[in-house]
Amino acid sequence: MPELGAMDRSLSNAEIADRLASLAQLLSTQKENPYKIKAYQRAAAKVRTLSESVDELVRDESDLTEYAGIGKAISSAIQEIVQTGTLGKLEKLRSQASPELASISAYPRLDPKRVLRIYKKLDISSVEALREQLKHGEIERKLGPRMAQHIRQGLTETHAMLLYKADDLRVAVEDFLLGKCGVRRAEAAGDYRRRAEVIEELGFLVDTDDFPAVVSKLERYGGRTPLIRSSKDSALFALSSGIALRIDVAPRKDWGLAFIACTGSKAHLRKLTAVTGSLKSLKANGPFPAETDVYGEFGLAFMEPELREGHDEVQRSLAGSLPVLITVNDIRGELHAHSTSSDGSHSIEQMAAAARDRGYEYIGITDHSQSLKIARGVSVEDLWKQIRFIDRLNERLSGIRILKSSEVDILADGSLDYPDDLLSELDYTVCSIHSRFGLGKREQTERILRAMDNRHFNLLGHATGRLLLKRPGYELDIERIIGHAKQNGCFFEINSSPDRLDLSAEHARLAHAARVKIAVSTDAHSTREFGLNRYGIDQARRAGLEKSDVLNCLPWKTLEPLFKR
Ligand SMILES: [Zn+2]
Ligand SMILES: [Zn+2]
Repeated sequence: MPELGAMDRSLSNAEIADRLASLAQLLSTQKENPYKIKAYQRAAAKVRTLSESVDELVRDESDLTEYAGIGKAISSAIQEIVQTGTLGKLEKLRSQASPELASISAYPRLDPKRVLRIYKKLDISSVEALREQLKHGEIERKLGPRMAQHIRQGLTETHAMLLYKADDLRVAVEDFLLGKCGVRRAEAAGDYRRRAEVIEELGFLVDTDDFPAVVSKLERYGGRTPLIRSSKDSALFALSSGIALRIDVAPRKDWGLAFIACTGSKAHLRKLTAVTGSLKSLKANGPFPAETDVYGEFGLAFMEPELREGHDEVQRSLAGSLPVLITVNDIRGELHAHSTSSDGSHSIEQMAAAARDRGYEYIGITDHSQSLKIARGVSVEDLWKQIRFIDRLNERLSGIRILKSSEVDILADGSLDYPDDLLSELDYTVCSIHSRFGLGKREQTERILRAMDNRHFNLLGHATGRLLLKRPGYELDIERIIGHAKQNGCFFEINSSPDRLDLSAEHARLAHAARVKIAVSTDAHSTREFGLNRYGIDQARRAGLEKSDVLNCLPWKTLEPLFKR
């Protein structure tokens, strides 16, 4: 609950963000404009990543609207929070709310509508009871895994964060370490450096002569950042954005050794130290200023951080047979993109121009198919028209080829959402599931296998339908599906949308082992989203893929025959 009256202590960014988020939460139970609710949520997220104390910024009369996501209205709301400890509007909503709703508002990450639905279904009325029911698995049993995951995240103090959000946070912390803490060097390590799709702890290695001073500066990061524990060369903090910040210190002469240790993973280090012996005792043999100095000592080739998961990388490093991992620059085209014909924001011409500006040779336009009404799926008649339209466009465009395609729904019985005579006019298809996520593992698997039996099926879109931190994927027998794809000449994509990243690196590794090629697609719904492909590339690298394993690193004339079954 917020403190009312004059504030004699300053608020941390986390406390300010919580009030903005609580307001958004209570507004969502009213008939409020969804854009306004989103704006408060976005501002809360922004405040959580800032390294400056927002409280101090307000007291210094700085212009908050200079920060992205903070407009005039939100800026004055933040001023009110700093000056009074709360928001008049928030307190009014709280006083009008039912006791159930008011207590939910202490947990700003919970969606009150969903929680009230659970209360009703399970006949409970308090957050404590909600916690109990979650623990005993009742929520998952009666309302499904998606709901259980939402409640779990809403109730726990520390949170995981998607990689692309951690990217912003990494920049802010790095600037703070170099600019405000005066460290000589700061580099992100841990899960972040290995490009794990979800980050629970952001780790940095720093070089400084005065570690205690760095720790006390960090305690004032974003106004106040609680120190969880510290030792002479390591400290752990609880960041406002909900994840942990870990700082390790290393001198320049042993930087390489420490960087290997801080980057992990645990499984990788177990296999590595089987070759090198314990990293700690190695110190005596130093100096090891760079990672390659350590590797060189044992005849190991450099292992890219994305590979350090304890699969076969240490063995391959010794044998000199590590893959040359794909990079963003190897991409020659895009195979999954939407236009205004379905739910995209830009026209086919605009998408094509943006693809050409990125240096792509081709772009496949994969609008949604007829059954997907909520995404304005394209009717049979309109897709015929679009095919002829793209043919004419290709005649006059230079420097880019537009591929005729569709993201075709895989219907519940495994049939595809367009007739064969229409599908055969397309250059290739991306086939995806957008409905009936609740089917059992066997049925869902059969559904995809049947779809793959259609000879117009080329790529399986976002294979498991997962939404990271929101919804687990539907259950599939992925090995059977990979086997069937291999047999039928079908392919997979890694969907670069940062909350999908599906295939996962683990599944992509399995497909790769079966020698099934994979596309790295963005599923762009606007020209801006082409830039997201770096997240798909991260996962492709984690799966050990080289450019020759990735479909859209091929020129169209090589790709085209692969799509003819
Ligand atoms: Zn889709
Ligand atoms: Zn799509």
